[in-house]
Amino acid sequence: MDTATICKLTAFELREKTLSGKLTAKKVVEELFAQIEEKEPLIGAYLTLDKEGALKTAEEIDARVKRGERPGLLMGVPVAVKDNICTRGLRTTCASKILGNFVPPYDAHVVERLRAEDAIIVGKTNLDEFAMGSSTENSGFKPTKNPWDVRCIPGGSSGGSAAAVAAGMAYMALGSDTGGSVRQPACLCGVVGLKPTYGRVSRYGLVAFGSSLDQIGPITKDVRDAAILLQVIAGHDRRDSTCAAAPAPDYLSTLDDPIAGVRIGVPKEYFAEGLNKEVHQAVEGTIRTYEGLGANVVEISLPHTMYAVAVYYIIATAEASSNLARYDGVRYGYRASSDGLISMYSRSRAEGFGSEVKRRIMLGTYALSSGYYDAYYLKASKVRNLIRQDFLSAFEKVDVVLCPTSPTPAFRLGERIENPLEMYLSDVFTIPANLAGIPGISIPCGFTRDNLPIGMQIMGKHFDEATLLKVARAFERETDYHLKRPGDYL
Ligand code: GLN
Repeated sequence: MDTATICKLTAFELREKTLSGKLTAKKVVEELFAQIEEKEPLIGAYLTLDKEGALKTAEEIDARVKRGERPGLLMGVPVAVKDNICTRGLRTTCASKILGNFVPPYDAHVVERLRAEDAIIVGKTNLDEFAMGSSTENSGFKPTKNPWDVRCIPGGSSGGSAAAVAAGMAYMALGSDTGGSVRQPACLCGVVGLKPTYGRVSRYGLVAFGSSLDQIGPITKDVRDAAILLQVIAGHDRRDSTCAAAPAPDYLSTLDDPIAGVRIGVPKEYFAEGLNKEVHQAVEGTIRTYEGLGANVVEISLPHTMYAVAVYYIIATAEASSNLARYDGVRYGYRASSDGLISMYSRSRAEGFGSEVKRRIMLGTYALSSGYYDAYYLKASKVRNLIRQDFLSAFEKVDVVLCPTSPTPAFRLGERIENPLEMYLSDVFTIPANLAGIPGISIPCGFTRDNLPIGMQIMGKHFDEATLLKVARAFERETDYHLKRPGDYL
């Protein structure tokens, strides 16, 4: 098998080949790094690569396969990790200069889980600084390019993770999603992205942005791989008090169940002005596919949708302003030279944070300041509850909700960077799931005339990832969008 063929395999296929002796983990890692050497200069998906560590793990895995030991769910699968998830001994920067040299002394819960299931950690992927953004252009180090068209952004904030998977530079990746950062980049890069229910996956070791919204999720080549990676990372962890105690079900056992009779709700508010025509058509086309599979598709209403972006930018910035107070130049990362304690704090923050992060800290501090709390934060929390209620009422009538993931396909680098509001609107369809705490998955469902991927989103009931995955997988079995890869290495 040549490099391109090996790099096109899904994680599931790769593991089968490693276990049956057709490939060794070492060969896989060598081929993957050959691919990275070729593609990474064009794409810029990674901030840190760990070839040495990956080869060492691969050798250990090959020895274990030889001994016939029980294989982990990700035996020999190279995985990329977003650079706001802590990896012991491996630099974790959040794409911020303020954490430029931070090497965590511990692994995040999800990273422990990856290692326990015999995954191979390849490196750390680029993001918008502290996960604040929708294009990965807010990285403090470099932008990442979309593998389908390098003049375009890959989405964000997990743009590095999505681009790495799309370009065959990782078999799967972890991202984090506060307002769409797993689903939107997955959509724009033509791969699968899943945001689990709030509390399904431990946030221990994920650098906090908006703590009531943040959730770690898989970015993969297909839905089966997403189910496998969710299986690995989901479940209780006492180090995150918001992590649900209920054990995760077996997602793989129900993945291929038929979906006849499943009730799919299509919210009319999501097909309004501003939705790109090609995206609209592609998502509408999926409805026919689902009807053909015996699903009942009905129109529903989520009346408070229009407030979601406004509510999100109060709640997320308020939580961020509090979470980011810890970067003061004392305990972590960058410290500016100065002549006193106060100026050391303020200069370290002024020089260490980028402009979008500063904008968010200021917005959030304002929203929480005395006299304004009731007008902004408290009111936003109340509207958040209405948005959640919208979904709870909808789920009395339907099993899942189907809509576009992003209102437009990937846009050009630089196109929205001067206009924060336009950038914030990239997430109109993904933010509601975070506010409501429900799971959402984005899967490929078409291409524009310019050959850019289009994705659809399926949202489900709290802790009902199994139904989401089953409904998404049913579409995948009928179509081949998920098999298409950026042309240059097919
Ligand atoms: N794009 C949104 C923001 O800028 C969401 C980011 C995220 O999910 N981390 O906040």
